[in-house]
Amino acid sequence: MRKLSKKEVSTFLKKAYRFFKDKRNQLLFKKLPKEKSRSKKKHRLVTVMGKYDCDGYNETISVDYRYEIVPSIIHETLHALHEKWTEKKVYKEEKRYLKSLTQKQALNLLRCFLDNLR
Ligand SMILES: [Zn+2]
Repeated sequence: MRKLSKKEVSTFLKKAYRFFKDKRNQLLFKKLPKEKSRSKKKHRLVTVMGKYDCDGYNETISVDYRYEIVPSIIHETLHALHEKWTEKKVYKEEKRYLKSLTQKQALNLLRCFLDNLR
């Protein structure tokens, strides 16, 4: 898996900050209920660490504080920025961003998310 360039990382961070600061978007930090699995084992409930919702106008990113916070923020932000990406693609890119972000960038991303909770 190729690491992302500094330029790719900073472009993502800029877009993420713009999304977080946009007052039309809602950022939530809360317990998320388990959901029914979309796979064959339909009766099973799966843990939801984060969620991205869009009702056509308002966009919401929710992160469950009981789980992995920074990976969830990156994951749901990628959903928000690339609505057409599949779950598989978002998951793969999430891992690349996690690998490529510096400690300082991860801290700033987390800080900006938390500062804009609403
Ligand atoms: Zn997802």
